[in-house]
Amino acid sequence: MLMGHYSSALVAKRIAPSLSLPLLFVSSQLIDFFWGILVLFGIEKLHVIPGFNPSNPLDLYFMPYTHSLPAAIIWSGGAAVLYYLFAKTPVHRVRNALLIGAVVGSHWILDFIVHLPDLPLWYDSFKVGLGLWNFRYIALALELLLVWGAIIACRKIAGENHWRYVLMAIVMSAVQISTLIMPPPLTGTSVVLQLLAAYMALTILGHWASKPRQTE
Ligand SMILES: [Zn+2]
Repeated sequence: MLMGHYSSALVAKRIAPSLSLPLLFVSSQLIDFFWGILVLFGIEKLHVIPGFNPSNPLDLYFMPYTHSLPAAIIWSGGAAVLYYLFAKTPVHRVRNALLIGAVVGSHWILDFIVHLPDLPLWYDSFKVGLGLWNFRYIALALELLLVWGAIIACRKIAGENHWRYVLMAIVMSAVQISTLIMPPPLTGTSVVLQLLAAYMALTILGHWASKPRQTE
């Protein structure tokens, strides 16, 4: 999954409006951020095979440290503990830490829906994935539905920034659709660099969209 991951961040923002949206955005893609870094260091691996599945060319054959179920649980618990220890305000500290952990963990669950069986249940074995990527337009519809559903859910908390949220959803939709239209990257490194750049740009966009107007 790509842009659909941001829906869990937006739902958490709706539950706890005081949580920073860019922090929630990073949390929703935390597992992919570290996946990208580990791929760049040659620790986790993928092959780029054009036509590998109808949605993308990614053969994600080795990613036990980020996308296995135990790893996802550890990333999620670790993020919750870090938030709890370093939260600036003590208000709702436990609830917010649990929400951050849930957003990090939601990454695995959403990946499970779309990935082919490449998500290990233990280290590098017992791989699972429901394989919605095999149905490119259904997978695309799910991503867009998650993004727009979450934006609509955030209507009230977005307040006068509502149109910024809508613009953000338009950008997310364009990024998602571009993965089906644009020629696929040729190497694992270029896939990772493009994704990391997109995640960073969207984090900045999240900051802009959620910034109180009066401070500008
Ligand atoms: Zn992922």
